[in-house]
Amino acid sequence: MRTATAPAPEADPRIPFPHTNTTLACRTDPALFVHELGQNSKDDRDRIERARTACRGCPIAAGCLKWALANPKLTPTGIWAATTSWDRAGLRRRLQLRHGLDWVGVVA
Ligand code: SF4
Repeated sequence: MRTATAPAPEADPRIPFPHTNTTLACRTDPALFVHELGQNSKDDRDRIERARTACRGCPIAAGCLKWALANPKLTPTGIWAATTSWDRAGLRRRLQLRHGLDWVGVVA
């Protein structure tokens, strides 16, 4: 658990967040992308599906996904590149199995 004085985790510099001049849905409507474990009501599921749809149309989705996977401490919750934290944990496991513990260095 982070305390008020603990520094925020730093992003892995090997995979920078992609730049775009496009207006991103997750920046204009961040509440749509909030997702905590256990949120599973119909309203939650509908909202998550709207966030996933927005991500699927995002021009930087592939880079966003790589960044989110490489930075689990910065993306413990929420929808990133149409994935939930559960989805991302599974993808990280598969990347680690395929590329080893330093999979971030391999895919960077
Ligand atoms: S793909 Fe990433 S940057 Fe694009 S809208 Fe979704 S969360 Fe935002």
